[in-house]
Amino acid sequence: MKLLFASSNEHKIAEIKAILPLGIQLISLKEIHFHDEIPETSDTIEGNAIQKATFIAERMNVPCFSDDSGLVIPSLNGEPGVYSARYAGPQRDANDNMDLIIEKLNHQSDKSAYFTTVIALSIHHKIHLFEGRINGTIIQEKRGTNGFGYDPIFVPEGSDKTFAEMSTDEKSAMSHRGKALEKMTEYLKRIG
Ligand code: IMP
Repeated sequence: MKLLFASSNEHKIAEIKAILPLGIQLISLKEIHFHDEIPETSDTIEGNAIQKATFIAERMNVPCFSDDSGLVIPSLNGEPGVYSARYAGPQRDANDNMDLIIEKLNHQSDKSAYFTTVIALSIHHKIHLFEGRINGTIIQEKRGTNGFGYDPIFVPEGSDKTFAEMSTDEKSAMSHRGKALEKMTEYLKRIG
């Protein structure tokens, strides 16, 4: 089956293409020349995932899904959470965002954090949600050059590497997005 992915984030597209089973062909917005800005105005990760999938489904009338993710740091009252992309300002710069986290965590002993993803799948005019989460720790220096966003400062539980020091396959085997995608593909297999 063909599934449209409601994102133009090339890193996410590469991660997701590498995971999806052979029977599911991912189509990106770029491939169908869809360049409209997709609204993301909810104050929850789940709300944004639903909003993005609904926006595309209403315009394209094909099975599609979106993902919305965020980094949650309990000792910072759950920040950056739904504001992960623009934590340090509207420039949405990953280095600025990481620097702000490092500074804020400097005097906190609890550096635990988790990534969460909610996938919203729109199929047959219904929305289905799939969640994935990975626990880990924030480190005070950036390590690695792969991936995107907060990957250089996030060490997942059970590993001594940051996500940015892992290959795409290694990251996806344990990541929030990988887990949510696995749930979605299980569902798609079940409904045939
Ligand atoms: P989005 O709404 O799913 O695009 O995610 C919002 C922000 O969360 C991104 O801009 C990144 O800063 C951060 N983020 C989401 N997923 C990841 C990931 O897998 N690694 C690192 N940062 C991520």
